[in-house]
Formats: sequence, structure tokens, C-alpha cells
Amino acid sequence: MLRILLVEDNEMNRDMLSRRLQRRGYEVMIAVDGQLGVAMAKSQSPDLILMDMSLPVIDGWEATRTLKAAAETRHIPVIALTAHAMSTDRDRALEAGCDDYDTKPIELSRLLGKITALIGGGSEMASGADMAP
Ligand code: MN
Repeated sequence: MLRILLVEDNEMNRDMLSRRLQRRGYEVMIAVDGQLGVAMAKSQSPDLILMDMSLPVIDGWEATRTLKAAAETRHIPVIALTAHAMSTDRDRALEAGCDDYDTKPIELSRLLGKITALIGGGSEMASGADMAP
């Protein structure tokens, strides 16, 4: 099963997104700040990281830079999530080493397309189950 690390400090966003991803056949791990996100990425080696950019302790940009500077984590794709749709935020995320970028509020089908492009579909999709939410 593909494993996604969700780094998100907002409890409501975290619960909703993790539930929806689990329903699509991904295993979801949670970190509630940037520092824990880096630590979990190193200890758990997820297949992909969804990184909120606005995070306590260290923000998503710094966490991503740290992950992309470390040999054991730099191969893990990171999708940045931010509330801002401005192109400067996209540029900043890509500069920090993020592999892709998406904006909140999350549109699940759009985000799933980006996740699938990087690591493939969850086990439900792989087995041909329907896409109903
Ligand atoms: Mn946040």
C-alpha cells in the first residue's frame, strides 16, 4: 500500500484530507508541525509527502529544504499545499524543492491527479474500485 505523510497543523483539514485519502486506498501518516514532519519522513520513509506550507515550529518551506538536502529523504516527492494561489508562492515552493504544488481549499480530484502522477493510485483505484467519495 502506498504511504502518504500528511504534514498539516489544522486539525479539521488534517482529519478530512486523511480520511478521504484513506478511502482512496492510501495509508496516511500524520505530522502536526514541520519539525515532526521532517522527523517522520526520515523514520517512516513515506512514498509521498503532502506539506502544508504554513506550519508551526518550522514552516513547510524550511521543512522541504531540509528534506531535499538530506540523502535519505531527497527522493521522496513533496506536494506543497498553501492557501495562496499566487504564482510567487508556487515559485517559492518549487525553489524549496517541492515537486508539485496545490492550493487550498483542496479539490480532491485535482490533488489525486497530482499524487497519482508522482507515485500512482491508491490500492482501491489499482483494483478498479469506483471513484465515489
Ligand atoms: Mn497550516
